[in-house]
Amino acid sequence: MSSIPEFVDTLIHPGWIVPVVPEGDVLTGFSVALVGNKIVAVLPTEETTYINAKKVHTLPEHVLLPGLINAHGHAAMSLLRGYADDLPLMPWLEQHIWPAEAKHVSEEFVRDGVELAIVEMLRSGTTSFTDMYIYPDITAEVSQAMGMRCQITFPVFDFPTAWARDADEYISKGLALRDRLKHSELISVAFGPHAPYTVSQNNLSKVATLAAQLDIGVHIHLHETTGEVLQAVEQHGERPIDTLHRLGLLGPKTQCVHMTDLGNQDIALLAATGAHVIHCPTSNMKLASGSCPVAKLLAQDVNVALGTDGAAANNNLNMFGEIRAAALLGKLHTQDASAISAQQALSMSTINGARAQGIDDCLGSLEVGKLADLIAVDMSGPETAPLYNPISQLVYASNGSQVTHSWINGKLLLENRALNNIDMPQLMQKIQKWQHRIGSQ
Ligand SMILES: [Zn+2]
Repeated sequence: MSSIPEFVDTLIHPGWIVPVVPEGDVLTGFSVALVGNKIVAVLPTEETTYINAKKVHTLPEHVLLPGLINAHGHAAMSLLRGYADDLPLMPWLEQHIWPAEAKHVSEEFVRDGVELAIVEMLRSGTTSFTDMYIYPDITAEVSQAMGMRCQITFPVFDFPTAWARDADEYISKGLALRDRLKHSELISVAFGPHAPYTVSQNNLSKVATLAAQLDIGVHIHLHETTGEVLQAVEQHGERPIDTLHRLGLLGPKTQCVHMTDLGNQDIALLAATGAHVIHCPTSNMKLASGSCPVAKLLAQDVNVALGTDGAAANNNLNMFGEIRAAALLGKLHTQDASAISAQQALSMSTINGARAQGIDDCLGSLEVGKLADLIAVDMSGPETAPLYNPISQLVYASNGSQVTHSWINGKLLLENRALNNIDMPQLMQKIQKWQHRIGSQ
């Protein structure tokens, strides 16, 4: 029960509320009140008559729900969207993406790529994203300036990039960034060792020790393909997940991205350690990497969140596409149409993402006391008519372009599809310049 506040900053009267927690709930005739960056009341609309609100949004044809959490990506790679398609993971990386990155990636590349990514994410319902890329300080700066919530996972590689020379420098620069952002309301920082095939066991050990000492998260690409697992078994005599476990890297603050090649023992290990899985269905399908056994993981109470991966492997950052893909691929993978329900797919893109980031006590569902990260989705169009069940429509029939309003930390960033404080023509001009620069080489 929430008491009725007298003065609030924002009052929203939506047609429906899908709070995500409790699962399956749909409220009609209810309103949501925000004060500062928090949800302070969810109450019957008739009880809001005496509330004084600075801003009122009456959205009778909209569903209001928690903002979507894109739990894995490389935002700056939006500048490589469509640069190389229709290739398997390793040739795609080694012959196309890594050479293009070596040639073009700079502070300016990351700044413009991240701005493009955030604009796309905001316009399709994402209010928080987890990122792994070089120049994470720039990604943090752009996110903060644009009012976007973000978990920065600073990269660690054995080899040099434009941002750092070796693993020690990646780590020291990343931890310095964490210190600088300690008090940020929007940005958190975790370790992002790229993958067991790009970071040596010695360096993974260093990450394990520091992550445990500082009590911070670790985000890593793992078991993306069967080839990766086989190669590790040949080289080290064990599966990558066992290596991580042996090094002390598998725990309730570990986010394992992809996880397509998983046996029952691997799943039992994830369940026992409390590690999280970040499922990227579109990227896995596009690169033909494999498919994550999501239904089996959920049955063992392993937390599974959803991510788009970078735009070069997707090719967009639209979480509505990802939710739908997760539900459909989950059914195909098990040959069971009841696997991965609409509600499960929606939970994966909201509360499970918050759980993976370790902040589900304050994010991921529309509940009193939680942070006001919310989106409104317009259901008035023919695409979502007739409307029998808003959760079904959100998962199977909606698109990110139906998101009309987006609040992050209580601030309205998207209003009637227009982005407040963003100069779109200027951004598109910058992107055109990159298109000429990268496309002409
Ligand atoms: Zn990735």
